[in-house]
Amino acid sequence: MPIHEKSLIRKENLVENENLIIDGVDVSGHWSTFITGRSLTDYNDDMQDEIAALPGGENIHRCWQCGSCTNACTVNAVNPEFNPRYWIYLIRLGMEEELLRDKDIIWQCVSCNKCTYACPRDVAPEGVMKATAHWLELKGHTPKSPSTEFDEEFSGQVIKTGKIEESRVIMNFFRRTEQPLAQPWLVALIKGLAFRFPVFYLMRMGMAVVRRPRTRNWAKSRRAINEYVQEVEAANRAAVGAKGGH
Ligand code: SF4
Ligand code: SF4
Repeated sequence: MPIHEKSLIRKENLVENENLIIDGVDVSGHWSTFITGRSLTDYNDDMQDEIAALPGGENIHRCWQCGSCTNACTVNAVNPEFNPRYWIYLIRLGMEEELLRDKDIIWQCVSCNKCTYACPRDVAPEGVMKATAHWLELKGHTPKSPSTEFDEEFSGQVIKTGKIEESRVIMNFFRRTEQPLAQPWLVALIKGLAFRFPVFYLMRMGMAVVRRPRTRNWAKSRRAINEYVQEVEAANRAAVGAKGGH
């Protein structure tokens, strides 16, 4: 049995009578509140299976709607519209249109995994959020999220060189997401580091941006990883019936 939260009811579906007397009892105002009925006919019967086929979504069928994930959720605490329990409910019923109303915030999961530790059914809601965001992208409902852009930049650099160079990851991430480099938090971070870090380390970080350090004899590993990534991406696209790459 799903939990019905008042915040989830659309305002246009809530009706109140300002003046209403029934059998001599005054039920005016909020005493007469009722929810207008809706008929849904556009169920997507494949949605749960498609999301379950993506990495992280495997255990979605175990959810029993207790709400512990939403109750523990870091993002829900600042934005009540971020509601993992509700989205899992919609996916399991195949209510795609309803889910798409929140398509622009689902990617905002910060992967803190508090929901995963709170879940009594081992659903791993964090994985389900990632799989759902991935599904939305593969289906063309959303463009690549900033989170995907960051993941691609990060893993792309590891695959290419066998190493991570943080400054380059951040710079390229800002370029991909069309953000200015002079972010206030980044300026504050660099100023803080400049006073606390030994000069030697700062120079080494600066040199790494220019030199691009690489792991020796990395080519064979790179080929193997690329092959594996292509296989997984093809399997993911096949799982949701999508064609070609992003
Ligand atoms: S991992 Fe995501 S869904 Fe889970 S508690 Fe953290 S922000 Fe919320
Ligand atoms: S905590 Fe687990 S079982 Fe409970 S609603 Fe969330 S995903 Fe479902």
